[in-house]
Amino acid sequence: MKERTLAIIKPDGVAKNLIGEVAKRVEMEGLKIVAMKLIRMTKNQAKGFYKVHEEKPFYESVTDFMSGDPSVIMVLEGEDAIRKYRRLMGATNYKEAEEGTIRRDFATDIEKNVVHGSDSAENAAFEVGYFFNSLEIMV
Ligand code: ATP
Ligand code: MG
Repeated sequence: MKERTLAIIKPDGVAKNLIGEVAKRVEMEGLKIVAMKLIRMTKNQAKGFYKVHEEKPFYESVTDFMSGDPSVIMVLEGEDAIRKYRRLMGATNYKEAEEGTIRRDFATDIEKNVVHGSDSAENAAFEVGYFFNSLEIMV
């Protein structure tokens, strides 16, 4: 099924000059970038984005990290886009991520793990709408 997912190149990924590398892997996978922008999230935007993790011990820290420096946010579209992009990313903890995944290749920290991707159709719809209006997404 054709899907959309929200992808983020997190501040550590942007700082490591990985914008092109991540975009290349996305495109090689056959996914289309249908929206893209460079933003610096406010603390409140980061808190709203990670609201599902409100109760977790890492909530304060991850929202500080996400709002500290610029990140690139993208909407990806394609067959099975959510699962395909999650597979490109690898596991949250880079030490457990499969070889050849973005996190395995570039992450150095469980928190600063280079990329984000929506984990379900429901969350993808929320996350895409959180950052983009319909006029910013190419159809
Ligand atoms: P993301 O939602 O960013 O794509 P994910 O779905 O693989 O990552 P989640 O469990 O949703 O992982 O956690 C959200 C983010 O919070 C992680 O990507 C990471 O930046 C941070 N995080 C998760 N677990 C921890 C932890 N144990 N310690 C520190 N930070 C963590
Ligand atoms: Mg997640």
